[in-house]
Amino acid sequence: MTKEIKMVDLAGQYQKIKTEVDAGIAEVINTTAFIKGPQVKKFEDNLAAYLNCKHVIGCANGTDALQIAMMALKLQPGDEVITPVFTYAATVEVIALLKLTPVFVEVNANTFNIDEQLIEAAITPKTKAIVPVHLYGQCANMEAIMKIAKKHNLYVIEDTAQAIGADFTFSNGETKKAGTIGTIGCTSFFPSKNLGCYGDGGAIFCNDDALAERLRMVGNHGQRKQYEFEEVGINSRLDTLQAAVLDVKLQHLDEYAEARRKVADYYDSAFKELNSITTPFRAKNSTHVFHQYTLKLSENRETFREFLKNKGIPTMVYYPSPMHLQKAYNPDGLWQKGDFTLSESLSEQVVSLPIHTEFDATSLQYIADSVKEFFNR
Ligand SMILES: *Cc1c(COP(=O)(O)O)cnc(C)c1O
Repeated sequence: MTKEIKMVDLAGQYQKIKTEVDAGIAEVINTTAFIKGPQVKKFEDNLAAYLNCKHVIGCANGTDALQIAMMALKLQPGDEVITPVFTYAATVEVIALLKLTPVFVEVNANTFNIDEQLIEAAITPKTKAIVPVHLYGQCANMEAIMKIAKKHNLYVIEDTAQAIGADFTFSNGETKKAGTIGTIGCTSFFPSKNLGCYGDGGAIFCNDDALAERLRMVGNHGQRKQYEFEEVGINSRLDTLQAAVLDVKLQHLDEYAEARRKVADYYDSAFKELNSITTPFRAKNSTHVFHQYTLKLSENRETFREFLKNKGIPTMVYYPSPMHLQKAYNPDGLWQKGDFTLSESLSEQVVSLPIHTEFDATSLQYIADSVKEFFNR
């Protein structure tokens, strides 16, 4: 018997919040408040309160959020920006697009987040910013990163597209939400993200009033006042329809994280005895919101994926190549295979299992049994 398993189950999730979501969408349509409707401000305020962050600024997607952040900080062509080499392309794409220089840093072997111990060696007089990416739903070591940034007078732009709602705890016991620790936080509301809308969306977080104004200005064609174009900006708005959906889903965000964590706990205990796989590391200083549940396999990843696929279980590889080996981000052949061996081997070993908010016990058991069956063949 095979079962059809989904990577994510957005339809199942929608069914449970349908009444509120439909009402929210209908209100936007009925009032034709499609652009910059009151729902956008309401959602920004509610998200700011949830994050305990002074300013939340909606924008069109997570990639734009990163671009607006770098433009608002007035990063200039040639400025160096430190980023993990093992990440989603958008982080590096924006750096390259603005003619900044990406400086890749290897990741930590346990968390797969930027290795804070290697950051200082990558800093030069041209370095202006560090962009940690909270991969798979767990924070990079923000305490160490902020310390380095302070010492070298650098901006920190957190890419928290995968970790919205995660809590980072400092050694003094203080806890802050992912994306609210650095100079600016950037997130995405892509449908499959932990807080996903029904199309594209993104947001920028910051605690500084003047910087928040600049972020709004850059994302609004460079205008503070209508028809007064101060700087070359971009047009990047959070759609009102999406804000209405997000405002409903925000109320369920912690419950969604809890549902994901339960799936992760289940997988963890089911795979305890399997020596050929490494289950996700749980850092002491961060909660994990499990945007992805990513295993590391010592070998046979493609056979494993094929085996599960034949059982109706999809898997994904985030990400099949580190950034230094991507043509777009290594145009002059500056880097070669062998320059970031850990990330290179991760890109060959990682595989993400289905994880979402709507799992039932039978499906989970089916997935766990199938994984075990592969290794006990
Ligand atoms: C999804 C994602 C982005 C980009 O978000 P979009 O909304 O698709 O532009 C950026 N960085 C990371 C780490 C992501 O996972």
